Amino acid sequence: MEIPKHIIGELKKAGKRVFIQFPEGLKSKEIQEIAKSLEKEGFECVLCVERTYGACDVRDMEAKRMKCDVILHVGHVDFGVKPEIPVVYWEYFIGSDPVPIIEKELGKIGKYKKIGLVGSIQYMDKLPEVKKYLESKGKKVFIAEVEGVKYPGQILGCRLKAGKVIEGKVDVFLVVSAAKFYGVGLVLNTDKPMLTVDVEAKKLTNVDDEKKRIHKIIAWNKSLFKDARKVGILVTWKKGQLVLPYTIKKHLEKMGKEAYILAGDELTQEKILGLKLDFLINTTCPRVGTDDTERYEIPMLNWDQAVRA
Ligand code: SF4
Repeated sequence: MEIPKHIIGELKKAGKRVFIQFPEGLKSKEIQEIAKSLEKEGFECVLCVERTYGACDVRDMEAKRMKCDVILHVGHVDFGVKPEIPVVYWEYFIGSDPVPIIEKELGKIGKYKKIGLVGSIQYMDKLPEVKKYLESKGKKVFIAEVEGVKYPGQILGCRLKAGKVIEGKVDVFLVVSAAKFYGVGLVLNTDKPMLTVDVEAKKLTNVDDEKKRIHKIIAWNKSLFKDARKVGILVTWKKGQLVLPYTIKKHLEKMGKEAYILAGDELTQEKILGLKLDFLINTTCPRVGTDDTERYEIPMLNWDQAVRA
């Protein structure tokens, strides 16, 4: 994919050495092409091979240690993190057209009249075309513009306002993204039906079963939390996810629990193996404590779920 001229221009203003953060999906091929194109423009590139799930993760300290002038954050938009060196965000629109997929599976939307349209950043350039198509089929389509979000209809895994503000007006949500991560995020926070236009798998997917499954796990973990004695508090030092855990620890101790603060970059089951904990409280990405709990052998809740348990 060609690097847009304005991105090259912004990078040139910031310096010569570029620290590149990118989603896992681009690792196989595209990211090397991007680095090569930048080198042809006179830049020196460092590819950050640590996983980058969102713009909550800005590795300015690492980039500084590598003596880079600027970070190129691919596939994300500004999350509001205050970095110590300039960051250029490149949305990286995928270019795949979701309309033929919707056209093929229109029967699944048939009974709904009013549609709330949202999507992930990579498909934001396609939402107007999807809206136009659905309107040509007699649907009323809502796309919300919300403050602090760059594109109308854009949702993140943890920021769902573009869906929430139109919830009362729509019969169904249509989420344009790859796989079901974004659809699951929204379906867990709404009672409205939800269909994901999975642009990679080229089909419309219903994520309601996933919602039931995750709610069951959360309910089960809440029941286990009451009797948990030895609790680990998962904390990440990723800039946009960091929550200082000291009050949470005191709160847990007041509840009669033995609590430990476990800090790292990306927390995993392997990293906490051997600590013999019987419960985890997650303060990192909120999706870890909802639909990612099965990666851990120990039951887990997000802190806000635990205080309501
Ligand atoms: S906190 Fe989690 S869901 Fe939110 S942007 Fe970061 S990785 Fe995505």
